[in-house]
Amino acid sequence: MTNRLSIRNRIYLATLFMLAFSYTLLFASSLFTINRFTEEQVAKDLESSLKFAKSQYMARPETVMEALKLPVSSDSVRNWILKRDALNLSDAIDRWTRSLDFLDILTVVDSEQSVIVRKSRKKETRTFLKGSLLASAFNRRQPFITTEIVSHDDYCQEVNDEACMVLPEKKEVMIQLVILPVISQDGTILGAVIAGNDLNKDSHLPYQQQKIFGKNVEMLVAQKGERIASTMGKIDALHPNLDQRVVGALKGGFSFNGTTTLDNRQFEMVAEPLHNLKGEFIGAIAVALEQGTFDGIRNENIQNLILCSAISLPLMFMLAYFVAQQVVLPFRRFSDAVEGIESGDYTKRVSVEGFHEIRAYYDSFNLMLESVEKRDKLLTNRIEQLLTLNKELENRIVAKKEELNLETGTQKAILESLLDGFLVIDGKQRILHVNSAAEELLGVNLSGMPEKQVLAYFDRVGLKELAASLKSASESSCTVSEKVIQARLGGKKLRFSITPLLEQGELCRRLLLGIRDVTRDGEVDQMKSEFIASVSHELKTPLTSMKGSLQFILSKGKWLTGVEREMLDVCRRNTERLIFLVNDIIDISRIEGGNEIFSMRPVDPGELVLYAIEMMKKGALARNISLVKDFEAELPQIWGDYDRLLQVLTNILSNAIKFSPQDTVITLTAEQKGRMLAISVADGGKVIKPSHRERLFTKFQKFSNAESGDSGGSGLGLAICRSIIEKHDGIIYYSPRVGGGNIFTFTVPVYGEKDDKNQNSHSG
Ligand code: ADP
Repeated sequence: MTNRLSIRNRIYLATLFMLAFSYTLLFASSLFTINRFTEEQVAKDLESSLKFAKSQYMARPETVMEALKLPVSSDSVRNWILKRDALNLSDAIDRWTRSLDFLDILTVVDSEQSVIVRKSRKKETRTFLKGSLLASAFNRRQPFITTEIVSHDDYCQEVNDEACMVLPEKKEVMIQLVILPVISQDGTILGAVIAGNDLNKDSHLPYQQQKIFGKNVEMLVAQKGERIASTMGKIDALHPNLDQRVVGALKGGFSFNGTTTLDNRQFEMVAEPLHNLKGEFIGAIAVALEQGTFDGIRNENIQNLILCSAISLPLMFMLAYFVAQQVVLPFRRFSDAVEGIESGDYTKRVSVEGFHEIRAYYDSFNLMLESVEKRDKLLTNRIEQLLTLNKELENRIVAKKEELNLETGTQKAILESLLDGFLVIDGKQRILHVNSAAEELLGVNLSGMPEKQVLAYFDRVGLKELAASLKSASESSCTVSEKVIQARLGGKKLRFSITPLLEQGELCRRLLLGIRDVTRDGEVDQMKSEFIASVSHELKTPLTSMKGSLQFILSKGKWLTGVEREMLDVCRRNTERLIFLVNDIIDISRIEGGNEIFSMRPVDPGELVLYAIEMMKKGALARNISLVKDFEAELPQIWGDYDRLLQVLTNILSNAIKFSPQDTVITLTAEQKGRMLAISVADGGKVIKPSHRERLFTKFQKFSNAESGDSGGSGLGLAICRSIIEKHDGIIYYSPRVGGGNIFTFTVPVYGEKDDKNQNSHSG
């Protein structure tokens, strides 16, 4: 499924998600912090309130102590106590009461702890509060403040009846006492002045506190676990007692800081225990904040937080949208420019505004566009040029084609008009071209002949040699020269010439087969050969007798003058040459006429070459020419007529000696080339002209360039060599020697390699 959300929307959503995520985290942490902060703040506030409450709690007794310190330590008061002067002391009490009218108890005792005078004026001479308290006051010898719980009776003893009446019976009372010991000049304890304040009825303390801390703060003083002064209504309220948990902690001597229930309401409370002089737990002083108020503070904070969130939510969406816009903007610009390129408009550019990082990309992109635009123009020009060129080329091709058609037509017409037949065959023995003369001479329609059928056809009609030669020519390299075959077909004597045309790799891929009707030529040649042969025979006998006679005259005729002898010698030499010529003519006529029988047998090429060198050594030495055999001894034997091959080799060697300058080297080499062995004679003579090379192997061709002066030959030597070599199924050819000189090479089949039954029969 393809995601169809655009990049902008994705970025928008991603930013939104990120913002929402961080926002939620922030919200949660703020909530947590608000809770913590509110709790801590409230706890702190409560603690400081408690501190203040404690100082307020102690303020009054301290005032009393400060107020009474001086009068109590006066000499008159000391005297009055020493003398137990109740009258004066009563006056003093009255005076003090006037300035400290809130005091419930104001009693003067002597050193025996017996009451001298009381504010209540009660006369019972009982010790003050059963005495134990004062003992420790005398021990301290210092004024001090203490809170004590006293029994109903003890309390009523010290206060007036009015105050006693207010108290429920048997109820203990919690009083703040300021005890000021009275000490004589010499340090003797004279007695003490005791001022006391009943906390049970003094409920103003918490209200004073509330004035300072606000109505949400509850302040209370507890007598043991019972609230005796509280901002929460009367002492006898429904639940005057503190939570057992709180009391338990306070009793253990610990402060309390936590949640508690008062009058069925939840409070956050901080409470500290109060101890009497003996260190016993007697009550507590506490400050509490109602949970509702605490929640109210917290909720107010949360509401503020939510309000802030509500305001910032649309801002968050806007921010996400803005970010998405900003991020996508560069891509937009790129995509606009790319769309331009797609539509082939390279002139568009990306406007370079925005962040500097992106501007660098824009610049590179614009640069790229510029170079693309340039290249586009260049390309368009080139394409136009190419199109023009193409048009020109097409016109030329059409013209050439017409020319070619004309040429081909002309060539076809020429070929068709030729009396000679011709066939072009490819490597797969398919007929590519054939003229009507060829079909006429062969008496068959060749044009429609399928692949490989032409050779089969030649084979069938008895042209086996032609078929075999065509096959081997198509399988051999193109260095093979033209091959001529004569054969009879349907009473006609045909001359076939096979010429390689095109080379592909090492093989000839086109063969031209020329066909000429030589029925008449053959007859004429036959007649010519027969005539030459008979004339030659006729000439040979008289020439031989002439030579004999001339030799006889020259050897016996002592009477001959020098001139006569010289003339007769010229006669003898010419006669000899004529005899040679006649012999050559007879020889070639016999070979070509097929009258010569070749005695075929395996021949050692090394031995053949050495024997030829031996034969020609004398002639070579006369001209100071060296004959060198330069090949390995392990060459295979060849299949041939030893004498005839020797004739070929000596003929080539005699030419080489004849046409080479003195003091040169003639090298004989031999190497196996597939099924054939090639023997070469390389001389250091003058290179034969290219125009002469073609005619070297044709009869009666002589080119007077012999180094020894007169070449003396008949011009038949190489023609005889070719006839002999062709009778061996080999070839003879000429090639110029690299660095000067001429090479004559002939090939002969290697013994055993050629599939020829004659090789086994040892007969020619
Ligand atoms: P001939 O029997 O008269 O020597 P060939 O047929 O043997 O006739 O040679 C024909 C001609 O080829 C020679 O007259 C000569 O001009 C040329 N020829 C043959 N062999 C060589 C050679 N090794 N160097 C130069 N020319 C040569």
